[in-house]
Amino acid sequence: MTVINRDKCVGCRICQTYCTVDAIYFQDGKCHVDEDRCTECYVCLRQQVCPRGAIEPVELANFYKQFQHVMSDPVENHGVTGVTGRGTEEVKTNDVSGRVKKGEVGICIDMGRPGLGVYLRDAEKVAMAIAKAGAELAPAHHTPLAALMSDLSTGKLVDECLNYHLLSVIIEAKCREDRLKDVLQALQAVEKEIDTVFSLGLILRVDEKGYNPALACLDELGIPQPYRGKVNVGLGRPLAQD
Ligand code: SF4
Ligand code: SF4
Repeated sequence: MTVINRDKCVGCRICQTYCTVDAIYFQDGKCHVDEDRCTECYVCLRQQVCPRGAIEPVELANFYKQFQHVMSDPVENHGVTGVTGRGTEEVKTNDVSGRVKKGEVGICIDMGRPGLGVYLRDAEKVAMAIAKAGAELAPAHHTPLAALMSDLSTGKLVDECLNYHLLSVIIEAKCREDRLKDVLQALQAVEKEIDTVFSLGLILRVDEKGYNPALACLDELGIPQPYRGKVNVGLGRPLAQD
């Protein structure tokens, strides 16, 4: 946990400008860390932003605090997936991993941003909404959030984690192409119930002309067609044939 030592703090407020999620507040002439809002990203500690050395780490008390820190600190390495940052390759390596097969659409929902963050209770709402609409959530050896799910088939997270705040988290899933419209409609509905932002990535296997028929449902739902993307060129064959 990150705390400010009251005896050392002189109230200069320099630290507030560096906090990634506005979790440092000023009161009674000193700065304080809002424990509920702090993501344990350690930016303030690592960058030594306090000229008085008043910002101090306290041992992360439980598994959820440690999870929060690993997910929010961009230089931490996730123990299960072995990936730095938010602990997932997503489907950037689909050529090799073969996670998204022909006839399927990969779904990558990137929740929270520096300056805003994401509470896990909001991540749960989104995961449950898309699971109910027909999406299959990625398992824990692919993506960290799944480790907090008490039921992978529904996206329900364990209650103990819901009020933890992360810098960002990625929900990964896939669905059959014919269920994409249902999943997108579920996302359009649940976005009104959450207190953060997310961006949606779709992982589509395209034909020689760069087209996938699932894209047509974006027009139906009033979602702009993507104007940029990342391309896997097929170097992982034969998995790319699956
Ligand atoms: S930078 Fe250090 S001394 Fe200044 S307000 Fe923050 S904690 Fe206090
Ligand atoms: S650890 Fe991160 S979120 Fe917490 S006070 Fe420091 S910069 Fe802000």
